[in-house]
Amino acid sequence: MRTVYLNGDYVPENEARISIFDRGFLFADGVYEVTTVVDGKLIGFDGHIERLQRSLKELDYTYKVEREKFLTIHRELVSRNSLDQGMIYLQITRGNPDDRDFEFPPIDTPVTIVLFTQKKQVVGTATEVKGLSVISIDDLRWGRRDIKTVQLLYPSLAKMEAKTRGADDAWLMQDGFVTEGTSNNAYIVKDGKIITRDLSKDILHGITRKSVLACARLLQMEVEERPFTIEEAYTADEAFSTSASGFTNPVVTIDGNKIGSGTPGPVGDKLRALYLEENMKAAV
Ligand code: PMP
Repeated sequence: MRTVYLNGDYVPENEARISIFDRGFLFADGVYEVTTVVDGKLIGFDGHIERLQRSLKELDYTYKVEREKFLTIHRELVSRNSLDQGMIYLQITRGNPDDRDFEFPPIDTPVTIVLFTQKKQVVGTATEVKGLSVISIDDLRWGRRDIKTVQLLYPSLAKMEAKTRGADDAWLMQDGFVTEGTSNNAYIVKDGKIITRDLSKDILHGITRKSVLACARLLQMEVEERPFTIEEAYTADEAFSTSASGFTNPVVTIDGNKIGSGTPGPVGDKLRALYLEENMKAAV
């Protein structure tokens, strides 16, 4: 059984209790982060903490995230759960007023803070060798996808639609252009150039995206940050996605169309290798 963190205490997972009035439960009024653990160390920790603070601020939370406090909690959970590879999930909600109300509770209402570990093989996966098949599907999410909120119902439905249609994941589409994957950023490669949607409120500003693009520049690869159509993706030489726990993963078919040779491409493979090398060196 896991030890989890809830509002200052480390408790067995089956003893962690939250109010039915919690705004995370009633309004999806909460934000989250997922930090990957490799060899018991945290990858991209500072990026996750910065984005967490930004998400909170964008939603008018006054809570201030203390880096050292959260680093201690993360490390404690890694240690108490003997986590070698996997993730730490962190969620902060606007807490529990004593009733349901659309208006925010008083400013002094304590936030709810939950963290737990998830064991998962993240290095040397079957996916990095085999690649992913994706389908395209309308992006019906709200207009502030740059905030990492726990409103994940639509991405979850999109993922299920992909599974039902025999694929691994979905790329979401707005006005004919790809925004991102259900839980990852999306990229294509054409004539050696890496193309990925530019940062805006339309997509999550991936921590992995930032690091992978920095790796691409280190490797003197050309990067173009702009929206691309799904038709452009069908005829790309290569496609891949990025996320904290997936690093880079090759996308080998889109809507049944083979991308390039239909096998993982060299650009994604090189970026994955350098991303891991750089981020393992900097892991805390
Ligand atoms: N886009 C969405 C919608 C996501 O849920 C995620 C995963 N959190 C990402 C992109 C990738 O972000 P990161 O690299 O920070 O995990």
